[in-house]
Amino acid sequence: MRAIPSRIHLEQSNTTLLPDLIVEANLDQILRLIAGIYVYPLLFIIVAISTPFRVEHPALFWTSASITLAAIVMRIPLIRFRRSLAMRTQLLFRLLALNICMTSGASGLIYVSVLWFYGFESWSFAVTMQWIVGMASGSTISFTPTSKLLRLHVVLLLGAAFSLGIFMGGVKGLTFAFATLLLCTFLLHQGHRLHKTYWEQLRDRALKDERTRELEEAKREAEAAKLAAEAANRTKSEFLAKMSHEIRTPMNGIIGMTEIALDTELSEEQRDYLTMVRTSGESLLVVINDILDFSKIEAGKFTLDSAPFDLEELLQSVVRMMAVPTHQKRLELLYENQVELPGTLVGDAGRLRQVLVNLLGNAVKFTESGEVRLTVASVNQSPHSITVQFSVSDSGIGISPDWLDRIFEAFVQAADGSATRRIAGTGLGLAISSRLVSLMGGRLWVDSHVGKGSTFHFTADFTLAVRDERDR
Ligand code: ADP
Repeated sequence: MRAIPSRIHLEQSNTTLLPDLIVEANLDQILRLIAGIYVYPLLFIIVAISTPFRVEHPALFWTSASITLAAIVMRIPLIRFRRSLAMRTQLLFRLLALNICMTSGASGLIYVSVLWFYGFESWSFAVTMQWIVGMASGSTISFTPTSKLLRLHVVLLLGAAFSLGIFMGGVKGLTFAFATLLLCTFLLHQGHRLHKTYWEQLRDRALKDERTRELEEAKREAEAAKLAAEAANRTKSEFLAKMSHEIRTPMNGIIGMTEIALDTELSEEQRDYLTMVRTSGESLLVVINDILDFSKIEAGKFTLDSAPFDLEELLQSVVRMMAVPTHQKRLELLYENQVELPGTLVGDAGRLRQVLVNLLGNAVKFTESGEVRLTVASVNQSPHSITVQFSVSDSGIGISPDWLDRIFEAFVQAADGSATRRIAGTGLGLAISSRLVSLMGGRLWVDSHVGKGSTFHFTADFTLAVRDERDR
């Protein structure tokens, strides 16, 4: 980040350090000249109308007015070509100083002349002085970006009147000179403060802009990195999907041929070997299917089917399927469906079954005694859609709190239970299930207590296909 000083004078020509800020301030300074184009002629109009100065001293009046007019005309090209001028700080400063010498010098001359010819007490002097003081105060704002120009302006406008006050002497003259000096000091002090604040604000804004730019840059870089990482991940998942698919085909061949070989006449030993080949082949196929599913989901190439199905029928077939392993482990399998449907559901029955089988399979896998329970309830129902909540609970080993969040990540198996090590698995089942559930518009979560058991819940959205009157 660039170093940004707190104060910079236009006249310092600090263009190499902070070109943007200086150019901005230069432009601002030029635009502030516009006010003078209206203000200076007004002084002459007021003096011409309310004092006898123009009639009694025409040469002096018209000389000053002409100089002022020339200065005003000079401001027009300054404003017109401000963009190129703003880049050339030195030149701009000289032109502005010259212009101020002309305008403020001519006004100061009028001021001192009115004082000289008509004295302190006259109406002419009061009117002129009031206008001059107004102009001097206004310039603290006009010359905020460039304090040197303000000093020049104030000195030219009030300097001559101050000197005349001293020259005239006496109580009145000296009081006037003193008051003019006080006014000058006050204006320069205020101008200095405004100048300081102006540059501080300019610097703060530049810093903020710089920071915003940096943040945007960082955001763009992060976005690009994210896109690159996502693309790399997709490529990896696509590769995995392709590979698993390629492995699955010969694997089916191995299992099929093993089954055919098992139907032939074999010795006891050969049968044992081939049975082992079949079991291992089947386990391998489960792993490959998991990897295929997972990588398809990760590669964004997974879409759910959408077809009508009977929920109760599906649940009963899942329960029937789980009855065997539950019975083998002497566990109790309980099932309760509280959903009352006016018709069939529309969704991906195959994937819903996959999630349920996975959760029930895990429940049986990680439970040594007690029960496994499947509960189904509706959480939200409208005439056209329904959100169903499925809960699979067990009285098994449970999951320690440290692992509760992580078990939904791919290839993670809670490492604390020795049961996990004894029990086969890929650590992909829950990762796939939670992604499938998200695709179904729901979420998967778990409540668990070590040694007491776990309950996995998930919700899923389905469309309701209301039965036609004729079907009833
Ligand atoms: P795996 O194929 O290893 O079962 P999952 O993704 O299905 O993979 O499960 C990940 C891990 O979550 C398991 O290894 C196990 O540690 C833990 N887990 C899952 N279900 C249960 C459960 N019902 N009881 C206890 N632990 C479970």
